Amino acid sequence: CCALSHTDTICALSSGAVKSAVSVVRVSGSATAKILEAFKLRIPEPRKAVLRQLIHPEDQSFIDKALVLWFPKPHSYTGEDMCEFHVHGGRAVVEGLLQAIVSVNSCRIAAPGEFTQRAFANKKLDLIQAEGIADLIEAETKAQRRQAVCALLGSSSKFYSSMNDAVIHMRAQLEAFVDFSEEHALDDQHFWISLDENVLELEKSIRSVLKSAKKSKRIKEGVKVAVIGPPNAGKSSFVNLLAREDVSIVSPQPGTTRDVVERTIEIGSYPIVVQDTAGLRLAEDVGDIEYEGMKRALRILQACDLLVFVVDVTMLNSGAAQTVDDLRELLATQLKELVGASVDPSEKKCLFILNKSDLLIESDRTMLKNLSDGVVTLGSCLSADVFQSTYDALLRAVSELCESSSVSQPLQAAVTRERHRKHLEACADVLHDLQIYLAECTEPDAAYAGRFLRTASNDLGAITGGFTTEEILEKIFKDFCVGK
Ligand code: GDP
Ligand code: ZN
Repeated sequence: CCALSHTDTICALSSGAVKSAVSVVRVSGSATAKILEAFKLRIPEPRKAVLRQLIHPEDQSFIDKALVLWFPKPHSYTGEDMCEFHVHGGRAVVEGLLQAIVSVNSCRIAAPGEFTQRAFANKKLDLIQAEGIADLIEAETKAQRRQAVCALLGSSSKFYSSMNDAVIHMRAQLEAFVDFSEEHALDDQHFWISLDENVLELEKSIRSVLKSAKKSKRIKEGVKVAVIGPPNAGKSSFVNLLAREDVSIVSPQPGTTRDVVERTIEIGSYPIVVQDTAGLRLAEDVGDIEYEGMKRALRILQACDLLVFVVDVTMLNSGAAQTVDDLRELLATQLKELVGASVDPSEKKCLFILNKSDLLIESDRTMLKNLSDGVVTLGSCLSADVFQSTYDALLRAVSELCESSSVSQPLQAAVTRERHRKHLEACADVLHDLQIYLAECTEPDAAYAGRFLRTASNDLGAITGGFTTEEILEKIFKDFCVGK
């Protein structure tokens, strides 16, 4: 119904929408040369910037003096003829230019992601790479940039296609087996055993990538850190200090409620979403509104990656604790009291902060310091040194949540999207089913076994865009911004 023609020539502002010194307007499609002609511009040498006056083709008005670049097909971003106008950044300039370009027949404003969608259609990049571009545009931290670049440069794609090659190889073996098996009846058993082994091997690799999916997603979306504790323990002070450490990308999130204050902060090179759960307290006289707030806080606790439990150390009867285990037990009990049965702290990565340690007498402070182990750490929002050690503990916990333990996996792929995860899971499951079939069947049927492998192959192919329907593509590219 509303599908856009893939043969139109398209144009859009490709640089940021806010006012800037220079704005880039891109044009892509077969009418690009005609548009330059309409502007009475000689076609410049490919990929060389030339300074030209832009005159409106219809009313001959002067638009701007601009740098013009010409990228003939197929060596352009989209694979089509393209040109770029680098104009002054004023909105009137950009709008005037776009209007002038569109006034030339057969050119329209591009839909979001349409340039990249064309690059995909012309095999300039695969889906994983296209998504990498989207992520790179969004990247705010170094870890996010690294991950996006990994997708963009094709190492994720390489990983998936090497998996797919392995499946295709097995399918070929199966076909050869069907053709020749009569003559080699004795080798049958050997063939099936070796196929079974290869399938298991492949399933293992896919499951290991799936294991890292959570980490990739955390890097893309931010590690969710919930800060909880009794009122007045110093939660907000702690979060404010954290935010001040990295003012660069502190952003007020939409949807912030009075109960949960959410902030995106960069720590180390990782994005974290810190949620300061204000409303949590244990009381019988909790009113409806506060109850709502507590329910929300509990949901956040259930969904978080890291739970930071802040207590006022002077309120903690820590004299009873002789060992770090005692101390942990004391804290765990307190935590349980606060969150009830709705969250199981033993299932979560936790960090315990004994805040306000500046109020302790020296001997108590030393005693507790000796009991600290990185999971339980002495904190203070008033002492820079002590705060630094809490920050370091937090950083350690966050990097453990983001980085794979096995660094020596050069062909690892970043599973940054639910789409990838679904296909990988489906693929691993069907490989598993095949192994069950082979185990249960004394005389397996090659054609039947081949069907499992075909499904596996389709799923792997779909990740990089091999068998992707128009609908799925539109869905993927609509998340892009206009001009990309
Ligand atoms: P929240 O209710 O847990 O968010 O606690 P707040 O961050 O609002 O802090 C409660 C009070 O404790 C405030 O008056 C803070 O200034 C104070 N406070 C927070 N952290 C520390 C600390 O490390 N040492 C001392 N002495 N006071 C602190
Ligand atoms: Zn607070």
